[in-house]
Amino acid sequence: MSNASTLHEEARIVNGILGEAAQAVRDRSREIAEQVIAPNAVRYDEEGCFPKEAIDALNDAGYMSMIIPKEYGGFGGSNVDLCSMLLEVNKVCASAGVIASVHSSLCVYPLKTFGSETVKQKYLPKLATCELLGAYCLTEPEAGSDAANQRTTAELDGDHYVLNGSKIFITTGKEAGLFIVFARTSKEDKPAKGISCFVVEADTPGLTVGKAEIKMGIKASSTTEIHFDNCRVPAENLIGERGRGFNIAMEILNGGRVGIACQGAGIHAGIIEELDAFTKSETRNGKPLAYQQDVAWTMSELIAEHDAAEALIFRAACARDREPNPIRECSTAKLFSSQACNRAARRAMQIMGLKGAVRGNRVERFYRDARITEIYEGTSEVQKIVIARTI
Ligand SMILES: Cc1cc2nc3c(=O)[nH]c(=O)nc-3n(C[C@H](O)[C@H](O)[C@H](O)COP(=O)(O)OP(=O)(O)OC[C@H]3O[C@@H](n4cnc5c(N)ncnc54)[C@H](O)[C@@H]3O)c2cc1C
Repeated sequence: MSNASTLHEEARIVNGILGEAAQAVRDRSREIAEQVIAPNAVRYDEEGCFPKEAIDALNDAGYMSMIIPKEYGGFGGSNVDLCSMLLEVNKVCASAGVIASVHSSLCVYPLKTFGSETVKQKYLPKLATCELLGAYCLTEPEAGSDAANQRTTAELDGDHYVLNGSKIFITTGKEAGLFIVFARTSKEDKPAKGISCFVVEADTPGLTVGKAEIKMGIKASSTTEIHFDNCRVPAENLIGERGRGFNIAMEILNGGRVGIACQGAGIHAGIIEELDAFTKSETRNGKPLAYQQDVAWTMSELIAEHDAAEALIFRAACARDREPNPIRECSTAKLFSSQACNRAARRAMQIMGLKGAVRGNRVERFYRDARITEIYEGTSEVQKIVIARTI
C-alpha cells in the first residue's frame, strides 16, 4: 500500500470505520461479550474469581493470541484488531479486559519484539493457546511511578542469572505461567541504566506468589506480590540487550497504555448503555428522565467524550501498527480515556441516584473499576509528564 492509501485507511479507522478484518473481530468480540462474559460479570466481581469462561471464550476465538504472528500459532492480527476486541470485552467486564490486555501487550509484545528466536519458539506457541498466561513484573515497593528505582537484582552465575527481590501489584500474579521481569544487572550511576529484562516461568524454583491484594475494583483480576529468592533463570531468557531493560519496560508500557485506554472507553460505553436504558424507563415530573434537558445535556457530553476517546485509541493503534513507540498517541489516549470514564461514572451515578449505587448495578461496578484506569500503567500525572515531553 502507498503512504497515501495507508493514511486514507487510517483516517477511516480513526473515524470508526474499521476494515473488514477488524470489524469481524469487533462483531465476534461483542457476541462473546454479550453471550458469555456479561452473564457472569457480576459473579466474577462479587466472588473476585478468575473469569474463566471469559478467557476460555476469547482463547477459543483465537483472540488471546491476537498479536502473535501466525508462524508461532497466533491469530496474526494488528493493534487495531486488538483494540477492537478489548473495547467490547471491557464494556461488560473490566477484569477480563485487563487480563487479556496484559497477556498480549505486556507479555506477548516484548517476547515477539525483543526475544531471541529460541525464546520465541519456546514461549509464543504456549502463549497463543493460553497454556501459559502472561504477566509483567516491574513495580516494587520503592519503584512505582519511579520505575527506574529497581531493587530486584539479577547476577550472572555461569549460564544462569540469579534473581533476588520482590515485585508488588502484579496483575494475573496468581494464574500466570510466564512473567516478564525487570531486575538490576549492574549498579550504574544513572538508575535507569543497568536494568535488564527477563522471561521467567512461574514454576521456576525460587519464584513464589505472595499476598493477593483486595481491591475496590477489577476484583476478578488477581493482583499479587511475586518474590524471587535465588531464582535461577537460564541466561538465554534475557530479553533484549543486557542493560536496556528500562527502555524496553517503557516501550512495553506505551503499548499497554492503549489497552488501558480501551478499558476506559469500554467502561464508558457500558455506562452510556446503562444510563440510556435507565433514563428512558424512569419518569420524573411526568416525563421520562431522558427528556429532562439537564439529563439530555449530560448524556450528549458523555457520548462526545466517549467518541473522542475511541478516536484517540484508534489513532494510537494505527500509529502502533506503523511504528514501535508512538509516545504521544498512546499517552493521550490513556490520559483522556481514563479521565473521561471516571467523569462518566460519577455523572451517571448522580443521575441514577441510589439505583446506580447499589451492588449488582453495572454503573456501581464500573464506578469502582474506572478508578483504577487512572492509576496503573502510568498514573494520569505520569501521562501528563510524558505528553509534555513530546512537545
Ligand atoms: C490493580 C493494579 C494492577 C497493577 N498491575 C501491575 C502489573 O501487572 N505489573 C506492574 O509492574 N505493576 C502493576 N501495577 C502497579 C502500577 O503500575 C503502579 O501502581 C503505578 O505505577 C503507580 O505506582 P504507585 O502505586 O507506587 O504510586 P506512586 O508512584 O507512589 O504515586 C503516588 C502518587 O504520586 C504521583 N506521582 C508520582 N510521581 C510523580 C511525579 N514525578 N510527578 C507528579 N506526580 C507524581 C502519582 O501520580 C500518584 O498520584 C498495578 C497497579 C494496580 C492498582
